[in-house]
Amino acid sequence: MIIETHGLGKSFKGHRALQGVSLAVPEGGIYALIGPNGAGKTTIIKTIVNIVRPTIGSATVLGVDSRTLSPTELSQIGYVSENQQLPARLRVDAFLDYLRPFYPTWDRGLEQAILRDFGLKGDARIGELSHGTRVKVALTCALSYRPRLLVMDEPFGGLDPLVRDELLEKLLDQAGEMTVFVSSHELDDIEASTTYVGYLENGELKLQDDLAALSARVRRVRVTVRGTAMAPAHPPAHWLDITLERSVLGFVDIAFADDRLRAALAGVAGIESVDVEPVALRSIFTALARAGRRNADAA
Ligand code: ATP
Repeated sequence: MIIETHGLGKSFKGHRALQGVSLAVPEGGIYALIGPNGAGKTTIIKTIVNIVRPTIGSATVLGVDSRTLSPTELSQIGYVSENQQLPARLRVDAFLDYLRPFYPTWDRGLEQAILRDFGLKGDARIGELSHGTRVKVALTCALSYRPRLLVMDEPFGGLDPLVRDELLEKLLDQAGEMTVFVSSHELDDIEASTTYVGYLENGELKLQDDLAALSARVRRVRVTVRGTAMAPAHPPAHWLDITLERSVLGFVDIAFADDRLRAALAGVAGIESVDVEPVALRSIFTALARAGRRNADAA
């Protein structure tokens, strides 16, 4: 694993931003950390790059405890965040001149190619650039030293779809030689390129899986009964987003298996038909978020 967290917890003045988070990010591929506002995504990312110290538990990055990351490891990690502070008064070329000596693996040819592809001008003053262009500068800096691990905190926030696609394309150019760990509100932004996904809510990791495996085990189920449908008294925890509409009981099953569903439906009377269909990934997270909100309301 290129990143692992072990029972990671973080409290800010008594407020628990993270609790018992155990992430496992395999080397290679793109891992998307998804979750609503305030879920704790930024706190995890800041812990990984040692800006934030865990209250409890630990994070291991490139095999090293995040609290003891040395310049050797840091020079193999790229970090891009939505509100990254860049030196506003510097020109793009002066900033790149400043950064290069810190990174033994800096590839000047690659730097020039990325600048060209992004249409970035070396003589532009960073403070005068638009938000999207500044994100491009940040990504150019991070990719030019060919990091083993690229960590990005909501890099697509506030970007128009065209710029977002340009950034994604650049990422994918290099994705074969690095691991990307990226946070986002929505899987939509990055779904096509993602290989692993983690869903974080209220500081807890609710789900973590290979995206293909996840798609395979999540199904929308509609059970039609004679008469009026009723919800089982104790529905399994892996049934989310339970709805009742006249004679139809609907839910999203996040641990679908034929025989398990059959067993769970044994207690439902008067079944006429059971329809099972795959769920778009976006809907999986919508269902999770809705279930989370409902639990919070009930509590
Ligand atoms: P968003 O999508 O809105 O950026 P997020 O998932 O990145 O949210 P975090 O920024 O990690 O969430 O915040 C998690 C929780 O911790 C929030 O309730 C936030 O208010 C709180 N928090 C984060 N940083 C601090 C801090 N420095 N001091 C106090 N509370 C903090």
